[in-house]
Amino acid sequence: MIIGFDDTDSKTAGMCTTYLGALMVEEIPLPADQVTPYLLRLNPNVRFKTRGNAAVSLRFELGRKETDEMWRICCDLLEEFAVFDDENTNPGIVFLSEEQASGLRGELEAFSLRAVRDFITIDETKKFLKKHNIKHRGYKNGRGLIGALAAASFAFNGLIDWTYEFIAYRKPENWEEKRSLDEETVWTADTASYPRTWDTVDHQNNQIVFSPHGPDPVLFGIRGSDQSAIKDAFTIVRSEPIDRYLMYTTNQGTDMHITKTNIADAKEGRSYKIGGRVTAPPHTIRGGHVIFTVEDGSERVDCAAYEPTKNFRDLIRRLAVGDLVTVYGAFMDRTVNLEKIRIDSLRPRMVVRNPRCGCGKRMKSAGKNQGYRCKKCRTKSDLPEIVETDPGITVGVYETPPVARRHLAKPLIRCNSEKKNIYPSR
Ligand SMILES: [Zn+2]
Repeated sequence: MIIGFDDTDSKTAGMCTTYLGALMVEEIPLPADQVTPYLLRLNPNVRFKTRGNAAVSLRFELGRKETDEMWRICCDLLEEFAVFDDENTNPGIVFLSEEQASGLRGELEAFSLRAVRDFITIDETKKFLKKHNIKHRGYKNGRGLIGALAAASFAFNGLIDWTYEFIAYRKPENWEEKRSLDEETVWTADTASYPRTWDTVDHQNNQIVFSPHGPDPVLFGIRGSDQSAIKDAFTIVRSEPIDRYLMYTTNQGTDMHITKTNIADAKEGRSYKIGGRVTAPPHTIRGGHVIFTVEDGSERVDCAAYEPTKNFRDLIRRLAVGDLVTVYGAFMDRTVNLEKIRIDSLRPRMVVRNPRCGCGKRMKSAGKNQGYRCKKCRTKSDLPEIVETDPGITVGVYETPPVARRHLAKPLIRCNSEKKNIYPSR
């Protein structure tokens, strides 16, 4: 059986849908290794969303009678812990039996992919659930049913690509307190487990990034490709008492949200990979955001490295008109919000300057359209000197630093297998 749920938390009042997942897992009368918890990140550009737009599902096998009992327990837990008084919290919970899901494999797959890449309405979701007679409960406007069904669908069909996140939770009496972590041990844990874990710390920006801020149950989350490396890292970290923890299988760090398009066909709120030529050079606007323009033969589009992407902007500033690039990111307000960039080719950087005279001195301009003249020996020249300079970047793939990484964005460290010219940010 599969239980999926979403939209139980609140931006302001704390709680976290993954915490509810951990509570439910403890109620399932099975050994821990017989339950697979999934943490699914859905379209990050959805306006009404929970923090990070995450939904959770649990897959396990129980007898008929115990199954009915588990459904009741899960609904009770959701009703006890969901933040109902936040107007933006609209929980949903879905129950899928293996038998039922088997008959709907294709529809479920299409639904879950659309929830990551596109937009799905509450109405459409309710119709789908009704039509296929899928057990569910939607609370308030029922928006959480979208993520609940998407998460349940992924748990049934499996993920084409996945990573893990091990989440450690705080004791409820500490939720309002400042998090207590021995920072030194966090850096040590990163050193011991990178690159099989990532985004624990950000070296370039000298920051710990695996721990949220604000009043919620999450103490920290360790992301990685290898469960044993993650557990090793966990044993190194010293912190305030840990209440419980759970290893989630997740679509984080997979680029599942990205599809290829040309600029003319790009639709607002989706995330894309777009290849093109730089047609307007990078410039920094108010707030420290860096913008440049790319054209692909169908249309042109602005691309932005926003201020929070920190050192990534230094790289973007070195692009020049004529460079060929492939940009990756969300298409919002007709601007690509850069998550990654592949520099495919660099146009030679030519600098025009006054020529050097045979006597060694740099010539001066002799006046408009008058060429150049040496002040020392009076030698004249009609032609300036044209030299190629170092662009300060090389062809290759670059990414935003861990401190600015979106949950779904695939870290370059995961792409390191055989390709060259990959520059993971750490
Ligand atoms: Zn001279």
